[in-house]
Amino acid sequence: MANTPGLISMAGGMPDSENLPFEEIKEIINGWDTSKARVGLQYGTTKGYTPLLETIRERMEEKKRIPMRGQDVIITTGSQQALALVSKVLLNDDEIICVEVPSFIGAIASFYSFHGKLLGIPVDDEGMIIEGLDERIEESEKLGKKVKGIYVIPNFSNPSGITLTQERRKKLLQISVQKNIPIIEDDPYGDLYFYGKYEDYLPIKSLDSSGNVIYLGTFSKVLSPGIRVGWIVAEKMLVEKLELQKQSFDACTSPLCQIIALDYIRKGFIDGYVEKMKPIYRAKRDAILEAMEAYMPDKVSWTKPNGGLFVWITLPESMNSEHVFKEAVKNEVAFVTGDAFLPEGHPNNYIRLTYGDLPLETIKRGVRKLGEVLKKML
Ligand code: PMP
Repeated sequence: MANTPGLISMAGGMPDSENLPFEEIKEIINGWDTSKARVGLQYGTTKGYTPLLETIRERMEEKKRIPMRGQDVIITTGSQQALALVSKVLLNDDEIICVEVPSFIGAIASFYSFHGKLLGIPVDDEGMIIEGLDERIEESEKLGKKVKGIYVIPNFSNPSGITLTQERRKKLLQISVQKNIPIIEDDPYGDLYFYGKYEDYLPIKSLDSSGNVIYLGTFSKVLSPGIRVGWIVAEKMLVEKLELQKQSFDACTSPLCQIIALDYIRKGFIDGYVEKMKPIYRAKRDAILEAMEAYMPDKVSWTKPNGGLFVWITLPESMNSEHVFKEAVKNEVAFVTGDAFLPEGHPNNYIRLTYGDLPLETIKRGVRKLGEVLKKML
């Protein structure tokens, strides 16, 4: 579908392919001697390439201010594998994970595929609504349904683009500690902020002295998704369980890719790349929001992300985004329908748009085309 000629796909959440760090990766690999290449081409340990583990540990402490005492790191094959590993280790049949409504499609798929159930928690402009969360958890437990985790994407969520405020992060952590339910904190976009300062987006895990937060990081949006390297920071005992599980998933994450990621950090490319990409993505975000103002009908509303790659559109309740999708494709624009990001049985009047991998002009044209379809259908 995405390759149909003429179709503007605002569906796939890809980073900017024009600006992937090709030259940096060439420089890294050209600088390798045989012994380094040999390590890269051989099997590695399940937990990860030791120098990369150490470097991530330091960066988590310095950049994300995560207290690392008692915590450990394991490398994963992208964050998607981290979600699968965590699901496998935490969940028994029919146990529950609380998720934001809407939440990331890949996480939902992972929780379901390891036989979990979802408890949808609504969000507003400040992220997951914490008020009432503990009651919802208690209700669920009274019905004999054990809640095993609270999954959040605190920074510029996929799909909503919304950021959880620091105040709510603190409250969420309190609930997690009181109820002894881990938070699964998924943070692929935290470095790509357009407003404010670094501290505004520090992870929940930076506040955590209990070890209750399981933090998921990835190189997908700050290096390349094709490199397939992510990591988990969690309590040592949990990391041991994850490591044991990972042995049967893929034995090890590609050492070749891990060494590339390590050199990319060591040579300072990662920080340079993030600084380069922030204004590029911000211009795309501004373009999509300007186009929304210009072309969307009155009854439609949308989020205004402070970072990341996504805008979440709410249509009038009478509309179904599947129907809109069929008409939109005829008008040469595609998106992901909201139901992909919602727990089962939720009304489907939502659309996710992405702008990361589209030129500014195409973003504007895509929104204009979608606006035309919605105006016709309303
Ligand atoms: N979590 C979220 C919220 C994401 O948006 C993505 C990527 N789309 C992932 C996890 C998976 O990332 P990775 O490429 O590291 O597997």
